[in-house]
Amino acid sequence: ETLDTQPVRNYDIEELKRLDMAHHLHPFTDTKALGKEGGARVVTRAEGCYLYDGDGNKMLDGMAGLWCVNVGYGRAELAEAAYRQMLELPYYNTFFKSATPPVIELSAKVSSLMGDEFNHLFYSNSGSEANDTVIRLVRQYWNLMGKPYKKTIISRWNAYHGSTVASASLGGMKGMHKQADLPIPGITHVMQPHWFDNAEEGESKEDFGKRAAHAIEQRILELGPDNIAAFIGEPIQGAGGVVIPPSTYWPEVQRICEKYDLLLIADEVICGFGRTGSWFGHQTLGIKPDLVPMAKGMSSGYLPISAVAVSDKITKVLIDKGGEFTHGYTYSGHPAACAVALKNIEIMEREHLVEKVRDETGPYLAEKLATLADHPLVGEVRTLGLLGAVEICKDKKTRQRFADVGKVGTMCRDHIMKLNTVSRACGDTMVVSPPLIIEKEQIDDLVAALRQALDATAADVEKLGL
Ligand code: PMP
Repeated sequence: ETLDTQPVRNYDIEELKRLDMAHHLHPFTDTKALGKEGGARVVTRAEGCYLYDGDGNKMLDGMAGLWCVNVGYGRAELAEAAYRQMLELPYYNTFFKSATPPVIELSAKVSSLMGDEFNHLFYSNSGSEANDTVIRLVRQYWNLMGKPYKKTIISRWNAYHGSTVASASLGGMKGMHKQADLPIPGITHVMQPHWFDNAEEGESKEDFGKRAAHAIEQRILELGPDNIAAFIGEPIQGAGGVVIPPSTYWPEVQRICEKYDLLLIADEVICGFGRTGSWFGHQTLGIKPDLVPMAKGMSSGYLPISAVAVSDKITKVLIDKGGEFTHGYTYSGHPAACAVALKNIEIMEREHLVEKVRDETGPYLAEKLATLADHPLVGEVRTLGLLGAVEICKDKKTRQRFADVGKVGTMCRDHIMKLNTVSRACGDTMVVSPPLIIEKEQIDDLVAALRQALDATAADVEKLGL
């Protein structure tokens, strides 16, 4: 029997669901509502692009977990890399003049993927921690440069940079800010480059892209260029709804950062490691950042690991003038996680997954997802590489949203789950981000499920008179 047909272990799923409700507080979850709906879906194993749950369902994972399982599930090589490393050296830290072979090799490898400007990595365990590290690096850099007044970081509304106090502050999720009394001081938010939601009537994408970039310049001038330390942006916003900026946006942002002497931070936690058809999203979009936080696809999610790639411009100052950098985590550069990340990159290179996304599956997803544009609920379809978005709206022509944004998206998400296919609703935007190993037939299945779920949603909308 293959893994595909034979459960590895037999679980008492009802008992697990009961224990889950009794003892587990889930992230980003309304626990009371979850209880009413019969508890969590318990995923017990996975293979390739498919998840298997305890109720006997096989599901196509159109989200690669949380945008991270780039090489797909069930890679024995990654398990073996962790196993071997754990036997040889399960843990040692990287503080106090120490290192281990995997962290050194991974640092050299990732540097080689990033071009000439980047030669050093600082490690952490999650995207959130990488972005906390970014704030520390930015502050340290400007202090060392003798410009301690350059402190404020500009971000965008609807950006996602993590869930810690500092990284959620960097992010522009208003609901998170409200619940947690954020942002912390020193962070300011400007409009996002989301043409579908934020453009004026009749405004072209190109004009809108420039206007969104100029919002950064305006804020710099309002607060005084001497007070602004950096700008942070995801090359493509992920959790905000796969927002692909107009082509005029990033070149203008780059120009503004250079003009006012801002550090440019490209948050590559989603875009990194092949998602957009290059190793990094900034390479696809022609951005020249100074700091690059990365996580997720670095280990394809098999073990937690993240890093910030630090450009030579910054490391030179840190090293020459900085003395001790008083920052780090117990598990910075964890040897088993680094060994898995190295093997993950080896698999991506061997199987040409970046080229596959760029030349084959990315263009194919674009072609197939575009066929949904004729659907009465669909206002816009966007893709880049293996990131895709389908905008659900009330009026296709005016791009008017349904009242209570998120309600219809959630209905569509629930419908597609019933079709044993995972796609996420970001507000009323259905998004996909499948494993980079996905094949064309599986993309067909994913798009067919989306259409069927949209049809079912349209029927609900009519029934409810929304
Ligand atoms: N940055 C971006 C762009 C992300 O998408 C995420 C997670 N979705 C994070 C940071 C935070 O990563 P983590 O959940 O690993 O802390």
